Amino acid sequence: MQGRKRVAVIGGGITGLAAAYYLQKQAREQNMAVDVNLIEASHRLGGKIQTVVRDGYVIEKGPDSFLGRKQSASRLAKEVGMADQLINNSAGKSYVLVKERLHPMPGGSIMGIPTEVAPFVTTGLFSIPGKIRAAADFFLPRSNPSEDQSLGQFFRRRLGDEVVENLIEPLLSGIYAGDIDRLSLMSTFPQFYEVEQKYRSLILGMKKATPARPKNPSQKGNGLFLTFSSGLQSFVDAIESKLEPRSVLKGMRVEQIIQKSGGYEIELNNGEIILADSIISAVPHQAVPMLFPGNDLFSELKEMPSTSVATVAMAFPKEAIKKDIEGTGFVVSRNSDYTITACTWTHKKWPHSTPDGKVLLRCYVGRAGDEAVVGLSDDEIIKIVLEDLNKTMDITAEPEFSIISRWNNSMPQYTVGHKQMVEKIKEQMPSEYPGIFLAGSSFEGLGIPDCIDQGEVAVKMVLDYLTINEEATTAVKS
Ligand SMILES: Cc1cc2nc3c(=O)[nH]c(=O)nc-3n(C[C@H](O)[C@H](O)[C@H](O)COP(=O)(O)OP(=O)(O)OC[C@H]3O[C@@H](n4cnc5c(N)ncnc54)[C@H](O)[C@@H]3O)c2cc1C
Repeated sequence: MQGRKRVAVIGGGITGLAAAYYLQKQAREQNMAVDVNLIEASHRLGGKIQTVVRDGYVIEKGPDSFLGRKQSASRLAKEVGMADQLINNSAGKSYVLVKERLHPMPGGSIMGIPTEVAPFVTTGLFSIPGKIRAAADFFLPRSNPSEDQSLGQFFRRRLGDEVVENLIEPLLSGIYAGDIDRLSLMSTFPQFYEVEQKYRSLILGMKKATPARPKNPSQKGNGLFLTFSSGLQSFVDAIESKLEPRSVLKGMRVEQIIQKSGGYEIELNNGEIILADSIISAVPHQAVPMLFPGNDLFSELKEMPSTSVATVAMAFPKEAIKKDIEGTGFVVSRNSDYTITACTWTHKKWPHSTPDGKVLLRCYVGRAGDEAVVGLSDDEIIKIVLEDLNKTMDITAEPEFSIISRWNNSMPQYTVGHKQMVEKIKEQMPSEYPGIFLAGSSFEGLGIPDCIDQGEVAVKMVLDYLTINEEATTAVKS
């Protein structure tokens, strides 16, 4: 390359961190003269990833792990020297709470879809008419091919309301904190649509598409999730330590991006201007329209909903729990008189997180249509959560300490039509803002590996853009 190129990554969550890391690495490897600035508004990196290490506990305030099957997070962990600290969750029984009763998750169900008949027939989760209605899936035709539909519409048609409300909704809600009747099938679980289109019956299709379960289910194995022994924040710190010196600007909010001939001016909240030839925006969707004031291209992002949730971690001595239940936790159906939406028995799911002789419970409150609780005081939230827990667990003491983390408007909602909306914006970016690329949890997946994937894709686009631009400039000069 003739002159040095400047690339700015805006937002230091996991998307921006992955993007900055791979940009620097690939520029070095390809001998490209690229200077990268990672600009983060707050005084720390990691965004929604935050760990508290205290009194021998490792407590996650936001995400607690990621799906091991999606490779990009483990790959990045290896890149930054963290592979030996990766640990799996302990697999164990999990439950759904329906109308005040805990029901074991039926064996062989995948995101609530039964793939084995016996556990489904014997479960107390559904009434007999509910089970008969679910069996209609064996005979129902495929849905008409459509661009999109809600998760609720899709699953209610195939399996009936009861299976949806008592099993599928609580599980999916746990991931998106959303309203299943508004969330987009194609932006969340397009694979279910594909299974239906291929096999017609969802149950038979999932059975064919899924490897058989181990013969001896009592054997305790590793779960499907991964984290780091010293917490997810240690992953963030390890990535940061690999970034080139002076390439990270913390405590600097980007106010706006101004297009100039041949590049961009990035205006920071302290009045400083940073120049960039190319930009990766890795901020939540609410922040994007503010970066480009006066441009209608991003108006639909202003309308995109997001929900508020809070995580409530509580530490107890073991003796305080009089009724101990074997398993790793439960999710709560909407037809239960509970405020918590899920509870993880963290000391069992993640034994490294809790000192011997102690119990660590982590509950969620808040979901679409039920978010007011997030705004209550700490004392009020603790009282409500303890009341709920006591309905199933018999806890005889106050927690030794609690950590409440509020995540206001932090769960982006991929509602029906989300994919088309994102595609429309991305299609127009090259002509409106050449060299600027959008990535992050608001767009194409909110799991940690999905965010890393998006960061990597954006890096490729930036490097291609810089190379093509360079070739064009060289051609004009010669
Ligand atoms: C409570 C909770 C639990 C979750 N659990 C899981 C889980 O178990 N597993 C999983 O895989 N995922 C989970 N997720 C989802 C996952 O954590 C997030 O989707 C992911 O961390 C988002 O990363 P990101 O980099 O896209 O955005 P963020 O982490 O939101 O980072 C964006 C960054 O941009 C910065 N920023 C914003 N505006 C500006 C500006 N103008 N200038 C400069 N910087 C700016 C912000 O300060 C922030 O640091 C959970 C999310 C929450 C909230």
